[in-house]
Amino acid sequence: MSDTDAAGSAETDATGLRTPIVAVLGHVDHGKTTLLDTVRGSAVQEGEAGAITQHIGATAVPLDTIGEMAGSLVDPDDFDLPGLLFIDTPGHHSFSTLRSRGGALADIAVLVVDVNDGFQPQTLEALDILKRTETPFVVAANKVDTVPGWNPQGHVPIQQSIDAQSDRAEGDLNDRLYGIIGEMSDNGFSSDMYWRVQDFRANIGVVPVSAKTGEGIPDLLTVLMGLSQRYLKEDMSVDVAGPGAGTVLEVKEERGFGTTIDIVLYDGTISADDTVVVGGKNEPIVTEVRALLQPRPLAEIRTEKQFEKVDSVAAATGIKVAAPDLDDAMAGAPVRVVRDRPVEEVIEAVEAELSQIDVETADNGVVVKADTLGSLEAIANALEEAEVPIVRAEVGDVAPRDVAVASTADEPTHEAILAFNVEVLPDAKQQASDQNIRVFSDDVIYQLVEEYEEYVTGIQEAQQ
Ligand code: GDP
Repeated sequence: MSDTDAAGSAETDATGLRTPIVAVLGHVDHGKTTLLDTVRGSAVQEGEAGAITQHIGATAVPLDTIGEMAGSLVDPDDFDLPGLLFIDTPGHHSFSTLRSRGGALADIAVLVVDVNDGFQPQTLEALDILKRTETPFVVAANKVDTVPGWNPQGHVPIQQSIDAQSDRAEGDLNDRLYGIIGEMSDNGFSSDMYWRVQDFRANIGVVPVSAKTGEGIPDLLTVLMGLSQRYLKEDMSVDVAGPGAGTVLEVKEERGFGTTIDIVLYDGTISADDTVVVGGKNEPIVTEVRALLQPRPLAEIRTEKQFEKVDSVAAATGIKVAAPDLDDAMAGAPVRVVRDRPVEEVIEAVEAELSQIDVETADNGVVVKADTLGSLEAIANALEEAEVPIVRAEVGDVAPRDVAVASTADEPTHEAILAFNVEVLPDAKQQASDQNIRVFSDDVIYQLVEEYEEYVTGIQEAQQ
């Protein structure tokens, strides 16, 4: 085995269990970015044994490192999953855009709630998404360091810290923590302080943390590791040597490499000489991998190039793929290694995955086109709430065939196409204009829906 093979398969142990993929969600300013930075930073400080490995778009925290950070909380011998892979981009938009095989790409999530601010609109949106995707999660009740009377007890589990000072803090922190548990219950989730939860399927654990000081972070990692081990282990078994399957995180121009894609590989391996099929804006892209790129260790970046080439990597990992013809690749779309299979079969699988969205269509309604599956679903949900039926919902630019479908619509939806973050192809524009079919384009979901609703209201008023 070459050095790069060894590095590439570090996240997958001999039994073929991969690292669970973790996403961080929550309201703006509640501390998602700080939490991710702290997880990375404290894992680096632990150094030696496992240390973290920086991936493209993700950070792997090995089990050994979690064990060192958590001290008596974690005995690595009790686990056989290799650690946790955190997606670096926080937020529910990236969470719902990133999918794998019709579900969420992330296997498990952290919902960050500022203890001072409680539940806010994006907290509720995140809860909705977690419920819909049936993703297991824990609540990180963040910023405990800001609560008056809070007095950190040094490097002891946060449970002991809280128990030790609940009198001194005059119940302040406890009040806030129970406030969060109350809000969870208002939203249909049963939850409790994590050290009291016996069955994490029945109860969501609330872990008090300070993303800033690092208190509670070992506890959070421990709970995530425990949840994964107990409830996700079966889903984590991968065919290590099989053809890779992943999801596009980002499409990026990279000096010297042209358009590249950052992907999270969640199954199998990808190698530098593989043929891959990538979900594109209009059709699947078939291309040959030119290079697989990983970030260089921080110390080397100053003098050397930013990336180093690797021959092959195994799931779960974040990796940059350089290949020709990636301009139309789509964030959130599937990536499949072809290897020993007819390419048509793989193209079909990619197409099937792209059409696999949870949208109810009607015989009569509007046509919706969007740039990613996640945004398509979000618009479909918004339209469903506004009671607007949909005749077709697809990822991709607005094409003449969309105009043809839209033209069959009748009252009360009228003939309309809603385009989110996609182009209207010239032929389609011409046809729509000839046939008097309205095309609404926007990159903000609620504005797109509002523009359309105003149009319908206008027609209705004119008819009265
Ligand atoms: P995001 O929008 O959810 O990613 O939030 P950020 O991580 O950017 O945090 C928003 C602000 O809250 C920043 O000024 C952070 O320094 C601060 N912050 C985040 N976590 C904590 C914490 O645990 N304690 C304190 N005191 N401040 C925090």
